[in-house]
Amino acid sequence: MTQTAAAASTALTSGDAASRNIPKIGFVSLGCPKALTDSELILTQLRAEGYDTSKSFAGADLVIVNTCGFIDDAVKESLDTIGEALAENGKVIVTGCLGAKAGEGGGNLVRQMHPSVLAVTGPHATQEVMDAVHVHVPKPHDPFVDLVPAYGVKLTPRHYAYLKISEGCNHRCSFCIIPSMRGDLVSRPIGDVLNEARALFESGVKELLVISQDTSAYGVDVKYRTGFWDGKPVKTRMTDLVERLGELAEPFGAWVRLHYVYPYPHVDEILPMMAAGRVLPYLDVPFQHAHPDVLKRMKRPANGEKNLERLQRWREACPQIVVRSTFIAGFPGETEAEFEHLLDFMREARIDRAGCFAYSPVDGASANELAGALPDAVREERRARFMAVAEAVSAEKLRERVGAEMQVLIDAAPALGKKGGRGRSYADAPEIDGVVHLLPPLKASKQLRVGEFTRARIVGTQGHDLVGQPL
Ligand code: SF4
Repeated sequence: MTQTAAAASTALTSGDAASRNIPKIGFVSLGCPKALTDSELILTQLRAEGYDTSKSFAGADLVIVNTCGFIDDAVKESLDTIGEALAENGKVIVTGCLGAKAGEGGGNLVRQMHPSVLAVTGPHATQEVMDAVHVHVPKPHDPFVDLVPAYGVKLTPRHYAYLKISEGCNHRCSFCIIPSMRGDLVSRPIGDVLNEARALFESGVKELLVISQDTSAYGVDVKYRTGFWDGKPVKTRMTDLVERLGELAEPFGAWVRLHYVYPYPHVDEILPMMAAGRVLPYLDVPFQHAHPDVLKRMKRPANGEKNLERLQRWREACPQIVVRSTFIAGFPGETEAEFEHLLDFMREARIDRAGCFAYSPVDGASANELAGALPDAVREERRARFMAVAEAVSAEKLRERVGAEMQVLIDAAPALGKKGGRGRSYADAPEIDGVVHLLPPLKASKQLRVGEFTRARIVGTQGHDLVGQPL
């Protein structure tokens, strides 16, 4: 085992660094060649992001110690080095094998010996180390690179924004070609996602829409790795993400809405957060069908779940929950009995907002090879029958809201709402659900402004929409 203790020496010319106030990171690399390559990756990332490196602990803004935990001598050397860095600098991040080692009683050894370290990660953890660095020494601003705001360029109105938490998908639904185009699931680091969310709220966003191909699967690809945000460890997992987003949104009085949530058991953990008002009691769950055989032919995720029972439990945990979903009618091989099963599900499940597509083959999808393709007319006829049931359920649910008082986020209000305006309640996602048509306010002093909330009493329904009197 090679043991190397070296402050990294990849400094920019000091005149450059000083004149641009570039933050400096001290780096000590201990241990074997595998640890050394980890150090190289972290140093490369630091340089790519514009950080400088420091040759002394005292001259650094923060010190990273990449440790070895293989034999007792190496453990001692690592712990001593952390101690020295803490004494001389005070801000220390520990990574490497020793960071993954348990101490007495099962706690983390490094934290037991040096409780004041800022963060501890195991080996091969470039992203977690960078997340921790960002928290304690923010990325240097480069006017030639940072031409966009922290939250990026947005195409939505200023008061709502989409937050993408992952790309790609691990499923292989037989009607879908997304995985062949975008690849398997890649979750964004949780620290980056939360930083973007905070920047969006700070910029005036009042509704954050969480999107991905499969929101419930967030973090599966990185084995729910522990990341860092605001100096604290946080798991790359949907439930942890939702909890943090709720905390972030609260001081801004903003909404968090979840899309593309598959009905896996761990989704149940979110319902108490919805009931407590931390995230909107709204779930967009793409069921696509209800009959188990059709779902199997579709190769749908969570196709073995008992969705009716799950929905019932969700409603018991959070009675105000609104469920949106999409379905496919006329999938290859769908029998009349299977389709009737879907209609029964729709009547019993009382999905608040349902859309339905007549099945249409997509080039490259494996469903094209399935036997039993149905004529276009049958697919279309089933879609229409499904929508008749769905619309009856939805209209009934909308009528139940008449007389209620609701919080409405205003999307349009010409002349400050003197002639009324348009907004959405928690039950309406932008572009895909209904709206609340706002009547002119009764009080002359009341104004409606885009991007602000108003309370409204629901006085009627209009197709898929509600009519509200601003209060
Ligand atoms: S339809 Fe299926 S395969 Fe396609 S993105 Fe959604 S879960 Fe993934």
